[in-house]
Amino acid sequence: MTELVEPAAGPPRPRDAGAPVGPGGAPCWCDRCGESVAAGPHEACAAARALEPPRWCASCRRRMKVQVLPSGWSAVCVEHGEIRG
Ligand SMILES: [Zn+2]
Ligand SMILES: [Zn+2]
Repeated sequence: MTELVEPAAGPPRPRDAGAPVGPGGAPCWCDRCGESVAAGPHEACAAARALEPPRWCASCRRRMKVQVLPSGWSAVCVEHGEIRG
């Protein structure tokens, strides 16, 4: 006699409270220096970002895994996936 036992569902995974998200889910974090976008102008960052890959995820402020590719770059956030430039 065989009993089928359903695997017990674990407790719900606590969601990371994460970073505050701006209106409409706009990015809140500078993807170059990791500071709040609202903290001030990031003109130097914007200028540098024209040439460099981002270092921080603009949505969650996680450190991105950056790879330089022959065609540009690839930056990966574990939460938000890959962006390329
Ligand atoms: Zn910045
Ligand atoms: Zn992210």
